[in-house]
Amino acid sequence: MATRLTIRDHNRDVAGLTYVYPVLSRRAGGVSVGINFNVNNACNWRCVYCQVPNLSLGSAPDIDLLKLREELCFFLGYVDSGRFYKDFSIDPKYRDIKDISISGNGEPTSLDCFYEAIEVIKDVLESTSRIGQIPLVLITNGSLLHRKGVRRGLALWGALGGHVWFKVDSASLTGRQLINNTMMGVDRMMDNLKFAAQNCDLWLQTCLFNYKEKINFDDELKDYHLFLLGAREKVKIQGIYLYTIARPSLQPEALAISPMQGYQLDRVADGLRRLGFKVQVSY
Ligand code: SF4
Repeated sequence: MATRLTIRDHNRDVAGLTYVYPVLSRRAGGVSVGINFNVNNACNWRCVYCQVPNLSLGSAPDIDLLKLREELCFFLGYVDSGRFYKDFSIDPKYRDIKDISISGNGEPTSLDCFYEAIEVIKDVLESTSRIGQIPLVLITNGSLLHRKGVRRGLALWGALGGHVWFKVDSASLTGRQLINNTMMGVDRMMDNLKFAAQNCDLWLQTCLFNYKEKINFDDELKDYHLFLLGAREKVKIQGIYLYTIARPSLQPEALAISPMQGYQLDRVADGLRRLGFKVQVSY
């Protein structure tokens, strides 16, 4: 392997592995080790800003747990040896693993054996003495966290110190239909949020963008604030991660949406901070 990995590179095949891929994260200031269960590019949602190529409606396929174990062991050893940094010409200031994140080309919790996959990750972390040493992040749309296997997996993830980044792009059903193409109701969302927060450190992740023909942003923001204030009564929210579209959407709505400007993101972030939330913004 010999290539150059930059912060603009989000190719999940870059390391030539099936489930494990490295990303250089400017936000985290180092390497994020990604785990992709959705190698078939399937998701139960279809967000208008989604950048997954050839996104299809569906679930993650069956996973080869042995291969997942081997790839994760291999990759962590590859980084430890220093060869990864050399082979991929990583800028010295980014030469550190900042997190391991389950973030795929689709919804990771749609994997049937989600719990077993988390067990594999736990085994690898234990065998390499990394439990508690590297932040663990599950990036999810949150819609399947009521499933039994997912709940078992989340409980284990939490026991490992794992965090959950739960997607909340809109607090209104109409907004979620327009943005995420989901009919997930607020009761299900709240119930899944509660479970996530009871077991793991919970962050909300919200993608903000301009979608003028369809969304009245001021109304959306009012609903969002009300939702957060209500949620805070029931759920411990560690923080909110705001971001915008960094790369072009690969969905039919691509031309109808555009990134928010930095000052717009800052304005939303300031409003949330005034309500007492911790906010991180990615421009
Ligand atoms: S939840 Fe994620 S993977 Fe699924 S459609 Fe939305 S952005 Fe794409």
